Amino acid sequence: MSGKDIRNVIVIGGGPAGYTAAVYAARALLEPLVIEGVTWGGQLMLTIKVENFPGYPEGVLGPQMMSDLRTQAERAGAEFLTDDVVSVDLSERPFLVSTGERDYRARTLIIATGAYPRELGLDSELALRGKGVSYCTVCDAAFFRNQEVVVVGGGDSAMEDALYLTRFASKVTLVHRRDEFRAEPIMTARAREAEKIELVTSTVIEEVLGVEEGHVTGVRLRDTKTGETSELAATGLFVAIGHEPNTSLFGDRLEHDEIGYLITKPRSTATGVPGVFAAGDVQDPDFRQAVTAAGTGCMAALEAERFLDAEPHEQTAAT
Ligand code: NAP
Repeated sequence: MSGKDIRNVIVIGGGPAGYTAAVYAARALLEPLVIEGVTWGGQLMLTIKVENFPGYPEGVLGPQMMSDLRTQAERAGAEFLTDDVVSVDLSERPFLVSTGERDYRARTLIIATGAYPRELGLDSELALRGKGVSYCTVCDAAFFRNQEVVVVGGGDSAMEDALYLTRFASKVTLVHRRDEFRAEPIMTARAREAEKIELVTSTVIEEVLGVEEGHVTGVRLRDTKTGETSELAATGLFVAIGHEPNTSLFGDRLEHDEIGYLITKPRSTATGVPGVFAAGDVQDPDFRQAVTAAGTGCMAALEAERFLDAEPHEQTAAT
């Protein structure tokens, strides 16, 4: 392998954490390579309007914000590779990062691979995926004009999805397994006030109906308090029940919690492997906000810079 392939910093992931890390690492003249994934941009590409990122009093469209952040990192001097990483070897240094097509070596690694939507785990859900079962409301809502749909979940995503769907659907039933919502009260209040939305609590989805027909025709519900089951006609089911971290690349090589979220040292993005840092949702089961992801991306870049500074013999620029 040529020396050209040895990078000071490789950032894996193209969301707010990865791009912010890239901005800081590039401005530190570390010439970061961002392997951003084929579907770069992260979860904000799937959100509608971001109203809680500081500095945007009118809100900002998620994809616009990601595109701006990417441009900012590019202008700062980051290099981008729009590809997926298929394997990482942390057992030797510089670390080996492979896209399948090509291998790269990294003196430091910033993992910002984010998280992916959780599934209900029903066979019928799997069978009807893309045939009425969706995990991306912004992507698919417009297909359900004047139709009746179901959203499952009780967090902010579910509320936001239900509200967004009212632009298209004739009726939106939001089904939540408990009788209390996890969502911010303001989001729940908005959903409650929306004429087209009905909130159904203490209820789970037992089955998605329509497997034989080849498209969603409804859902079978079970009231968790009475045990009673019922069927609700719908052409779409939007699953908004949270996320799981993208950490399968690392197996048990990096310490993680029971769900798979990477564990970093207190007040740091450092993992247990020196030179490997984790930022954004991949290490954050609690806050999962664009602003916190960006914050930890910044931390990871600064920590990578310090790490390289402490190893001057390692710090020579890519040759
Ligand atoms: P979340 O807050 O983790 O909520 C997931 C919801 O799905 C919970 O109500 C949970 O029920 C339910 N759930 C989980 N597994 C389930 C299952 N197997 N079957 C049925 N229901 C299940 O996830 P999120 O709503 O995606 O939000 C993630 C983070 O992003 C949060 O911090 C949120 O504030 C933020 N966010 C913010 C905005 C905004 O401000 N505009 C929009 C979207 C997301 P339980 O409550 O019973 O656990």
